[in-house]
Amino acid sequence: MDYKAFYKLSYGLYIVASVFDGKKAGYIANTAFQVTSQPPLVAVSCHKKNATTPVIEKSGIFSVSVLKKEADVSIIGQFGFMSGDDIDKFRNVKFETFSTGAPVVTEPSVAWFECKVTNSIDVGSHILFLGEVVGSGIISDGEPLTYRYYREKYKMLAPPNAPTYIEKEKLETEAPPRQESADIIRNEDSGGSYICTICGFTYDPEVGDPTAGVGPGTPFGDIPDNYKCPVCNAGKDYFKPV
Ligand code: FE
Repeated sequence: MDYKAFYKLSYGLYIVASVFDGKKAGYIANTAFQVTSQPPLVAVSCHKKNATTPVIEKSGIFSVSVLKKEADVSIIGQFGFMSGDDIDKFRNVKFETFSTGAPVVTEPSVAWFECKVTNSIDVGSHILFLGEVVGSGIISDGEPLTYRYYREKYKMLAPPNAPTYIEKEKLETEAPPRQESADIIRNEDSGGSYICTICGFTYDPEVGDPTAGVGPGTPFGDIPDNYKCPVCNAGKDYFKPV
């Protein structure tokens, strides 16, 4: 089997969200797709360890916010690489609620759907929720973000909970070499903390990063160039001074 063939499947990028008992939950999904038109059904595939999954199971509702192409990558870090058990993912984002009450992230999005779960299928690591669309809307005329665009622009691999995650060993070669891009931020070391622009992890030189063998008191500029963000695996070039 050639696992690279899976990269030829096309997807968008979405925020799937729900709410139960006042607790909002949401995550970044690439597997959200229309299943039928009569009735209009949409399916999402949620990892069982994802904090949003039990919220959808209990509430029976979910929303799909279609991210726009120019979406700030920090929202992908916030919803895709952090856990709602640790942070309130909705604390600094614009969202609205409609008939189901599931939060719809309106910025940076081009469209939204809200669904009532009609069926769920246990597929092992994930649960496939089928939902009847009970509301939808256009937010802007912008272009939707595709998974391919995101992967090529930011050179990111899917996080392990994503349905499309492929273990590195299963790929014959590593991810494609990073190309120089104007979007990649290069900075002189200011001596202070640096934040990962993909997921929001902050490197504090006073603390270092023991998980990567970087001791306390190491300025960011002195970390080896092959350093990777401990949260999202982004390279050193994706960090900027706080
Ligand atoms: Fe990160």
